[in-house]
Amino acid sequence: MPRLTHEEILGWLCESRPSALEQLFARADETRRMHVGDAVHLRGLIEISSYCARQCHYCGLRAARSIPRYRMTREEILQCARQAVQLGFGTAVIQAGEDFGIEAEWLAEVIRTIKAETPLAVTLSLGERLPEELQLWRSAGADRYLLRFETSNRELYDAIHPPRGAVRSDRVAMLRELLALGYEIGSGVMVGIPGQTFEMLARDIELFEELDLDMVGIGPFLAHPDTPLGAEPDHGAGSEQVPSSEWMVLKAVALTRLVCPEANLPSTTALATINTVDGREHGLESGANVFMPVLTPAPYRKMYEIYPGKACVDEDATQCNSCLRNRIELLGRYVGSGPGGRYTSIASHNTQPSSREQRGIIEKKDSPLLVVLQ
Ligand code: SAM
Ligand code: SF4
Repeated sequence: MPRLTHEEILGWLCESRPSALEQLFARADETRRMHVGDAVHLRGLIEISSYCARQCHYCGLRAARSIPRYRMTREEILQCARQAVQLGFGTAVIQAGEDFGIEAEWLAEVIRTIKAETPLAVTLSLGERLPEELQLWRSAGADRYLLRFETSNRELYDAIHPPRGAVRSDRVAMLRELLALGYEIGSGVMVGIPGQTFEMLARDIELFEELDLDMVGIGPFLAHPDTPLGAEPDHGAGSEQVPSSEWMVLKAVALTRLVCPEANLPSTTALATINTVDGREHGLESGANVFMPVLTPAPYRKMYEIYPGKACVDEDATQCNSCLRNRIELLGRYVGSGPGGRYTSIASHNTQPSSREQRGIIEKKDSPLLVVLQ
């Protein structure tokens, strides 16, 4: 399939005619079917700590908020991993605020135990940690790392994601390091960040392609009233401001499927939050092939409030599991088995993955997009 040009991506992002958009979603759905099939992979999300050292202007966990915080014990995390196996999930996603109270060797031991006792793939989503920590966790058996770059526009990024101390944040550089360490890499953005223009979102989608991401998470920005962006949502983009609407997210998901046909794309909880009735299904019908049900124990879920009104926060993992399975089957799809990594997902679809050497972003260091971000 010919590569989408910048103008085409931008054109689709600005498109609002339902009949035209139906064609885009159908094309993305067909691309998904051809490259990763009808399986929907379930990744159990374990939110292991709500402590965070960062001050992201969008997030309810930012350090400045004085809210009750928690950090799960080793045994609680292992119990969630065992539950993931019982529920038939192939992956545990270990997520947290940027919490330096999560000591690197302690977590490495937890990862080793999960890998020794279960068949689960382990995905980490712990923010910006040191290269030696990332190396340690990879050696302990972690398979994947999720780190959204949030926006490819450096100015907007700096405005909403302040540095921690003197350390300038460069999530794109960190994704490169993760790839070199042998992780499958996932990134993504929020759609409708105050100040985000259509042009910026088109560049985000082009950067997904440049990085040849294994996973891409795209959800709407949801205003948290007790954060700088939630309290002061107008950032002057005027008519160029991207709305944080369901359709806007679905357009971004569909275009991402077209530019990253082999990637695993979740239909996100944030999407289900803006359309609690069938937002999840719409994501699956627009190119997505992953759900991420929450396994975090009930007492902690409400404390991991990155935005208000999160979907399914009151359901336990068993209820959530059967609800999601029903939704998948009603669409004529099925729950994927096994770890469902990029290469295992595409193995049965006669698509030869490009090799790490061919696709490695290390060789693409001097691409214009990456240079802009450095
Ligand atoms: N601390 C880690 C990090 O920042 O990568 C992982 C946890 S963080 C809560 C996971 C993601 O939540 C962020 O990458 C961001 O895209 C999303 N998020 C945070 N605040 C949000 C908001 N108000 N609306 C939508 N998504 C949000
Ligand atoms: Fe912390 Fe991640 Fe929230 Fe930023 S997005 S405040 S790093 S939890």
